[in-house]
Amino acid sequence: MKVGIPASPGYAIGRALIRGSYQSKIIQKKISNVISEKERLYKAIKKTRQQLTEIRDRVTEDLGEGNAAVFEGHLVLLEDPEFIGAVESNIESNIVNAEKAMQEVMDMYISIFDSMQDDYMKARSADIKDVGTRILSNLLGMAMGGLETSKKDTIVVAHDMTPSETAQLNQGNVIAFVTDMGAKTSHSSIMARSMGIPSVTGLNDITKIVKNGDVLIVDGVLGQVLINPDIVTLNEYRQKKEAYEKEKEELKSLKNITVSTKSGKKIRVGGNIGKSQEVDFVLENGGDEIGLFRTEILYLDRDKLPTEKEQFEEYRSVVQKMQGKAVIIRTLDIGGDKHLSYLHIPEETNPFLGYRAVRLCLDRKDIFKVQLRALLRASAYGNLKIMIPMISIVEEFLEVKAIIEECKRQLDNEYLDYDHDIEVGIMVEVPAAAVCADELAKHADFLSIGTNDLIQYTFAADRGNENVSYLYNPMHPAILRLIKMTIDAAHKEGKWCGMCGEMAADEEAIRILIEYGLDEFSMNYSSILKVKKLILEM
Ligand code: PEP
Ligand code: MG
Repeated sequence: MKVGIPASPGYAIGRALIRGSYQSKIIQKKISNVISEKERLYKAIKKTRQQLTEIRDRVTEDLGEGNAAVFEGHLVLLEDPEFIGAVESNIESNIVNAEKAMQEVMDMYISIFDSMQDDYMKARSADIKDVGTRILSNLLGMAMGGLETSKKDTIVVAHDMTPSETAQLNQGNVIAFVTDMGAKTSHSSIMARSMGIPSVTGLNDITKIVKNGDVLIVDGVLGQVLINPDIVTLNEYRQKKEAYEKEKEELKSLKNITVSTKSGKKIRVGGNIGKSQEVDFVLENGGDEIGLFRTEILYLDRDKLPTEKEQFEEYRSVVQKMQGKAVIIRTLDIGGDKHLSYLHIPEETNPFLGYRAVRLCLDRKDIFKVQLRALLRASAYGNLKIMIPMISIVEEFLEVKAIIEECKRQLDNEYLDYDHDIEVGIMVEVPAAAVCADELAKHADFLSIGTNDLIQYTFAADRGNENVSYLYNPMHPAILRLIKMTIDAAHKEGKWCGMCGEMAADEEAIRILIEYGLDEFSMNYSSILKVKKLILEM
C-alpha cells in the first residue's frame, strides 16, 4: 500500500493506466522548411485554443466561473507574443522541429519561474506547463495528452496532472487519478473534489511502482492506494464504496433542511471558503451561510496588494451569490506560515507567535483600511459580517473598531453606501481571548472560536508538527473548558457564538458543543451535510 495526500474523497476500484509521457516522444530533428514547421506550430496552437475554449465553457457550466478562471489565463498565455515568439525564434535560429523548440522554451520558463521565491511566479510556471504540454500533445498527435482510453473503470497514474487535464477526465472512462506530485490545495485537487473524482496525490513514486493494467484501489478518504489487492481486500473496499455512495445520496436529501436541537433551537451550519468560487460548493452542500471566508488567498497568488476595487468586487460577488444568507469575512490573516513576499517583512524566529493577522493590520493601517473599505462597501449588497482574527486583548479590538468607524465616515463623505448595522465579531483563537471572553463579548457583535489555532496555542504544540500531535487534542478538558467559557461569555452579553475551526466537524465533539450551546458550526464544505445529519440524529 502507498500512502499519499487525500486530495479528493471517495473510493475507486479499477485498472491502472500509466499516463503516456509526451517527453519520451520528443526527438530533436533538423528541419528543411522553417515556414512549414512554423505552420505546424500554429496549427497546434489553434487546436489548443479550441480545446481550451471548450474546456473553459464546459467548466463554467458544470463547476462555475471561478473554476474556469484558470483556463481564461491559459488562453491569454496562448496569445503571449513573448512565449510563442520565443518558440518561433528557436525554430528559426536552430532549424529544429517545433516539438523540440517548444520543449526548450517551456523548460526555460519553468526553471526561471520555479527558482523564484514568489508564489505568484510559481503559479505562472504551472500555467506554462499546462499550456505548453497541451501544445506539445497536439504537435505529437496525442489528443488527450496520454489520457485517452477506451477501457471502462480506468485509474490514471501520472507524475502530475494539470488543471486542464483534470477537467477533461470526466468525459471519458477515467474514474480516479493518483499522482507522484501534487498538494491538497492545488488546482487539480480542488477540481477533482468539485467533480467528485477520487484522487490521491503526493505519492512520490507511484508511477515507478505501478504497471499498466495493475488493479488499483484508490481510497481518497484516507489517501491510500492499494496495488493488486487480494480478493478479501477487494470485497472490503467494494462494500466501503457502496456505503460511501449510499451515504452521499442520503446526505443530499438534507440539503435544504435547517437543523434544530431537541429543544427547538435552530443551529446554523455553514462552510469555510478561501475563494469566491467556492461559494457554489457551500450552497451545493447545503450550507446555511459562509462561516469563514479566509481572505488571505486574495493576497497570496500575486505580486502586489489587491486594490480596494478588486477586493470589493470579490466580496460583493460572494455576498450576492449567498442571496441574504450570512457571509462572515475574516480580515487579513497573514504571517505565521503565510508570507507575502512583496511586503518584505523581515524573517522572525517564531512567526506563529509574531507579527501575524490583526497585529500586522494594526501596524499597517494603510493595508488594513483598504480591506475594511472594500468590506464595508460590499456590505451594501447583502448580509456581510466582519470578523477579526488573532485578537488577544480588548485594546486591539477597540482600535479595530475605531478604524472601522473612520472608514465609515470616509464612505459617508464620498456618498458610498454600506450596511450601517454591520456586525463586527472576534475570532477566539488565542487562549488569552478565551479566558477574557467576557470582556471581549461586551464589545463584539459575535464570537467565533478558531479551534485550529486555539488548540495549538493552548498546548504550545504546532498544528502541523507530527512529533507533538499527541498534544493536539480537541477533546482535552483544557480546550473544552476554554470553549465553554467563550460560549457562556457570549451568551451572557446576549451575543451569539460560533465555531469555524475544523473541530466543528469533529463527530465526537458535536454533541458536547450542542450541549454547551454553540449557535453556529462552520467547517470545510464537504462536511456540512454530515454535521447536519449528526445534529438531526441527536
Ligand atoms: C482557526 O484557527 O481555527 C481558523 C479557522 O483559522 P485558520 O485555520 O485559518 O488559522
Ligand atoms: Mg486561525
